Amino acid sequence: MKAEIIAVGTELLLGQVVNTNATFLSEELANLGIEVYYHTVVGDNPQRLEQLLVEAQSRSDLIVLCGGLGPTEDDLTKDIVAAHIHHSLVEDEQALARLHEFFTFSKSTMTENNLRQTLMIEGGIAVQNPTGLAVGTLITEDETTYLLLPGPPSELKPMFQQNARPLLEELFPQEEQLISRVLRFYGIGESQLVTELKELIDEQTNPTIAPYAKPNEVTLRLTAKIADKVEGEQLLDHLESQVMTKVGEYFYGYGDENSLVKVTVDALKKHGKTISAAESLTAGLFQSTLGDVSGVSEVFKGGFVTYSAETKEQFLAIDRKLLEKEGTASEACAIAMAEQTRKLADTDFAVSFTGVAGPNELEGQAAGTVWIALAEKGQPTIAVLQHFKRDRKYIRLSAVMKGLDLIRRAVDKKK
Ligand code: ATP
Ligand code: MG
Repeated sequence: MKAEIIAVGTELLLGQVVNTNATFLSEELANLGIEVYYHTVVGDNPQRLEQLLVEAQSRSDLIVLCGGLGPTEDDLTKDIVAAHIHHSLVEDEQALARLHEFFTFSKSTMTENNLRQTLMIEGGIAVQNPTGLAVGTLITEDETTYLLLPGPPSELKPMFQQNARPLLEELFPQEEQLISRVLRFYGIGESQLVTELKELIDEQTNPTIAPYAKPNEVTLRLTAKIADKVEGEQLLDHLESQVMTKVGEYFYGYGDENSLVKVTVDALKKHGKTISAAESLTAGLFQSTLGDVSGVSEVFKGGFVTYSAETKEQFLAIDRKLLEKEGTASEACAIAMAEQTRKLADTDFAVSFTGVAGPNELEGQAAGTVWIALAEKGQPTIAVLQHFKRDRKYIRLSAVMKGLDLIRRAVDKKK
């Protein structure tokens, strides 16, 4: 069972759009046990697309095409595939009804070319588009199956998951499926993690262990290839517990969507705790990162950006003498920032960041020297000194991640 993905669109070749559809589709197909052998990108050009179809047909059982299902002249994927397999295009009634409904509802005028979006390849199965107007097609001809999907990821993803995936499962039943689980770690580098897990990794056959390093964190994907889902989950449970015995102290969450900030916000929510922040070198990055999480207003009250010594004094009433004596990139300053902010914002926790973003040194301290303090109601304030490496951007991001981890650990300790 060999599959390939063809992304159609000149904007992809020009480098204006990243081919994220191929990434998504490859992962989805792998989950169905279908192996993808090629990714290709071709412009909105009839001859080159036809040439590519001839080649793809000779080597693949399934060809997934994305892009070019829209209403305009350059949207020609359907026409070319239909011509390639000597079928015509026909109107799909359901898509037509949805199109009329859409224009009645939005009170806008339908143009003739909108009707093109309701065309599918004759003899195929219509694949409905839950978030758009262009209908897709699944069709098999001469032992090759073609699946046509639209270009916008916001349409392609729901369409694949809701409508195309079940059709493919039926068409290509697999004896074995891939079941995977993602474990996320903070505070350990990839090389150290791999060293700790060396024996497990060397022994791996089924399930497999794949490490992946991201900025400031490492993920492990455990994958079992198996017919029975329950048995697969048991295999993953067993491997996970072996992994946890070795590196469990760095583990913070499961799955691609559960970033460190998401997990930290969830922990605050779970324990009903609020947070505020005072930021010097991160200049708002911590608070902006919190703002990326929907529903954070439940736990995040606000905070300060105090980039200069003056604003540390003006906004947070930090004693000028302390700043002169200890410096701003100091433990004493970090603690004062966190404690003052916690009182002013009246939150359970407050975190502060102060230090040297670089590239130049400050107050005689090297770039990457960062103090992070965490004040907690009724508890002694903790402060940690970090020495981050690399450029300004990375140093500031690293500080934010460390702050999140401190909060997550402090919150979780209070069950
Ligand atoms: P539309 O009705 O919007 O014209 P379409 O099916 O004709 O949809 P295209 O015109 O090829 O699709 O692409 C529309 C937009 O979808 C592109 O401008 C791009 O932003 C996005 N897109 C297209 N192909 C991809 C891809 N392979 N990966 C990620 N995004 C893509
Ligand atoms: Mg288009």
